[in-house]
Amino acid sequence: MHMTPTKSAEPKFYNIALPVPLHGTFEYRHPTDLSIGLRVKVPFSGRELVGIVISRCLQPSTAPQKIKSILSIIDSEPVLPQAIFDLCRWSAQYYLHPLGEVFAAALPSKIKQGAGLYQTTRTLALASTEPRPIAEAHVKRSPMQLALLRALFEHTALSRGDLKQGQWSSAIIKALIDKGLACWQENIEANPDPGPHDPPNSAIQPTLEQQLAIDSVELNSHKTYLLYGVTGSGKTEVYLRLIDQVLRAGRQALILVPEIALTPQTLTRFEQRFGRPVVALHSNLTDQKRSEHWRQARSGQAPIIIGTRSAIFTPLARPGIIIVDEEHDSSYKQQDGFHYSARDLASVRGVAENIPVILGSATPSLESLHNVTSGKYTQLLLQSRANGAARERYEIAPIPENQKDALPDNRLFDAMAETLDRGEQVLVMRNRRGYAPVLFCSNCRWIAQCNACDARLTVHKQTKGLKCHHCGQQHPIPNHCPACQQSSLLPVGDGTQRLQETFQNRFPNYPVIRIDSDSTQQRAALTQMIDSIQQGNPSILLGTQLIAKGHHFPNVTLAIILEVDQGFLSADFRATERTAQLILQTGGRSGRENLPGKVYLSSRLQALPELRALLKNDYLAFSKNLLAQRKTYQLPPFTYQGLLRADARRPQQADQYLRQLLSQYQALDPDCEVLGPTSPIMEQRAGWYRSQLLVTAKTRQSRHRALKQLSEHLSQHRQPAVRWSIDVDPVDLF
Ligand code: ADP
Ligand code: ZN
Ligand code: ZN
Repeated sequence: MHMTPTKSAEPKFYNIALPVPLHGTFEYRHPTDLSIGLRVKVPFSGRELVGIVISRCLQPSTAPQKIKSILSIIDSEPVLPQAIFDLCRWSAQYYLHPLGEVFAAALPSKIKQGAGLYQTTRTLALASTEPRPIAEAHVKRSPMQLALLRALFEHTALSRGDLKQGQWSSAIIKALIDKGLACWQENIEANPDPGPHDPPNSAIQPTLEQQLAIDSVELNSHKTYLLYGVTGSGKTEVYLRLIDQVLRAGRQALILVPEIALTPQTLTRFEQRFGRPVVALHSNLTDQKRSEHWRQARSGQAPIIIGTRSAIFTPLARPGIIIVDEEHDSSYKQQDGFHYSARDLASVRGVAENIPVILGSATPSLESLHNVTSGKYTQLLLQSRANGAARERYEIAPIPENQKDALPDNRLFDAMAETLDRGEQVLVMRNRRGYAPVLFCSNCRWIAQCNACDARLTVHKQTKGLKCHHCGQQHPIPNHCPACQQSSLLPVGDGTQRLQETFQNRFPNYPVIRIDSDSTQQRAALTQMIDSIQQGNPSILLGTQLIAKGHHFPNVTLAIILEVDQGFLSADFRATERTAQLILQTGGRSGRENLPGKVYLSSRLQALPELRALLKNDYLAFSKNLLAQRKTYQLPPFTYQGLLRADARRPQQADQYLRQLLSQYQALDPDCEVLGPTSPIMEQRAGWYRSQLLVTAKTRQSRHRALKQLSEHLSQHRQPAVRWSIDVDPVDLF
């Protein structure tokens, strides 16, 4: 791809994308022709940055003599294939985010910093062009240097291993290099040929429903399919069969999952099935590993790539299929910086690469269901559990009015005891980590608050600290109330840590395994916990929503969901959808094998119609209802939203900034409405006071126009004290 330099007197100008938070590209000059997509080094306000050549610039907007020169060219071929290059450009435009930052998000950090596109090994090579006796004369006074030079003449190049074996010190090597007799050479590692794909035959025979779903997918199309299969319906088997066909055709499969660390079994399951290494891409990898895996995907060497959100940008030499598992999961939406949705980009990428995309879920997002109705996506249905297991049954366990905490009542404790005594497992979901959500003074009613956020501090017992779950600040637990000096401080409410204590006291003969982001800091600890659950011994699995994510624990027959129904009362219109998904996903961990599954929802709101509807375990009917409501109120997916957020260190500052912006904004478009500025419920977060404008439009185009107009205005009237960002298709308005 690398063009041979054509000598010409005229310098050429290029638009370069740089990883800086500024819209647009930057103009640089270079004497020769450069292909689009190469990485280059350029000077940028006193620093050296790695950028990407976006296009030729025929008419520079700056005076040519002021345009700086490109310092060096890193690549001899484009860093990304055309489809991913285009996907990045499309994303920058759609999400109104600086292009250079989009590329920065798409590339592993080593590659972003200029590391080579291929795995290389370093060898020490002979650099001398002189005849051997003359070269040797240069080092005749140093026997060691002479010996190394002779070795180089004999072998032309020595690997690191060779050098180590010969015990050549780095001083000797350096001496030869300084004399121009030797030099380091980077050699591209040859990719071992993966060989023809011939996986062992699967023992599982697909069910009729599964077979129908598999047969419906056209592998040579760019269609997006919504695989809507109830929990335990065997969606994974459908993925595996499709991947199998893709591999047989010599192509690669990209699988996105919400959180890889939580499902170490997924990797093993795939590897066992295909007898091929599966390459993982997620944030827990070292930079080194990450770029290594990225290179293997790019070169085509890795047939199967499993990754989290940002893996959607992974280049594939021979793309065959993209699968997005648990497509409803909110982790697919990046919540800060470049606010993209990996699920939505998957569908865009499928079209660009002409490959099918499968979005799978037992509780699909309303957006995806709407896309099925409008004909954009094709639905594949799995309505029963694959192994013949009955679907789990739901029941409400009312919380008495006078009871403050979310603890299970005696009826639930009895059900737990019976389940454990039968030798089965109980899963308890409490979506609050820590020991107690509140530290309260019983004398003066003081409550521990974070000084940087509008939020309460959570009591953590093991670290004996008060922790803010929003900004991460930690303080020691005070002995006396800071307001009245009495020793009258009480932790109030139950977090997962306190529940663990409670269950341990109540059921001393059974282990209580706690899974939340505090207990799973160490990957090894998590793997161990999951393994011990898989063994199936009677135990209590307790955790936040992390335990609801896609696990297959065969011996869980009872699931208890503690007080999640406040979600149905939230001001956020998406909260109902999310709460329903959480309930059915947690409940769906129960009764997945031969034993029937039972789910209790402990609730204060047993009369709530939403809850009653959910108890029938009919998400389709439930979501139809929700969609009808969204339509009535003209909410997404029937309208298109964008959020313009601003924050500042001083109260009111961001608000005033947005007010000023709005007064200059000309609302000419009848299809588009701009609301605000309003403060999110948590106005102050991590020391920043926040304010936002909400754009709601009938079409994507008019939303885009409005956001673009607003953002251009903001770019022109920057206030150093205010930072702002744009969130297109926001999932979190509060
Ligand atoms: P989902 O991801 O849809 O919740 P899984 O893929 O985890 O469901 O499958 C649930 C269980 O059903 C697993 O134990 C799996 O091995 C089993 N299973 C899947 N397909 C079949 C099949 N065709 N016949 C028998 N068991 C199956
Ligand atoms: Zn007090
Ligand atoms: Zn805080």
